[in-house]
Amino acid sequence: CVLAISSLICAMGAYSLEYARRTAWLEGHMLAEHALHDGLTGICNRRRFDDHLQRVWQQGTRDHRPVSLLFADLDFFKKYNDRYGHQAGDEALKAVAGVLAGHARRPLDMAARFGGEEFALLLYDANREHALRIADEILREVRALGIVHEDSVAGGVLTISIGIACVQPENNRSAAGLLQAADQALYAAKDGGRDQARAV
Ligand code: GH3
Ligand code: MG
Ligand code: MG
Repeated sequence: CVLAISSLICAMGAYSLEYARRTAWLEGHMLAEHALHDGLTGICNRRRFDDHLQRVWQQGTRDHRPVSLLFADLDFFKKYNDRYGHQAGDEALKAVAGVLAGHARRPLDMAARFGGEEFALLLYDANREHALRIADEILREVRALGIVHEDSVAGGVLTISIGIACVQPENNRSAAGLLQAADQALYAAKDGGRDQARAV
């Protein structure tokens, strides 16, 4: 009987130890996932994007493949928040994130929330023409979401602007230049009237 009780205690101890171990593993795993994804939209966050860009840059250098970066920013989004509320703004961000994520189709492509109302879409082995075509599709799909925005430029619906940079990665070039170029192109798209894409 003593033997039976002690082996029962042993089994219970082993079980709770295993349980604690599994819970810790799961929590660690969830934390790691959390650190890589944007809490609101569920797509990759800036940190994940930066890591991925380095990897893609190396791959493109090795394989001599061009890399395109699309930098997207919601148009007149401050006005949208002011008029329809922050909650509605959050919903709009999720919807736009969904459109961008839908265009990260190849294994090395990645859509990410870059910050606030800015998103990035990285396309591997994509030349300028390809990137422009994708950008046009994205612009169309965002308009087609039909998110009412009375203060917008284009027919009363929420729109975005996109800046595109396309480069052939090389060892003596840095990925930071790609981001800078896409940002400049975005500025030109805004300046040109918004709801459009510009490439450098
Ligand atoms: P532009 O067309 O030139 O881009 O003008 P804009 O109003 O979109 O740009 P601005 O930088 O003036 O405003 C960005 C707005 O984005 C302000 C900020 O409140 C909003 N924003 C940023 N992050 C979030 C978020 O997580 N949720 C919501 N609802 N709004 C956000
Ligand atoms: Mg912005
Ligand atoms: Mg904006």
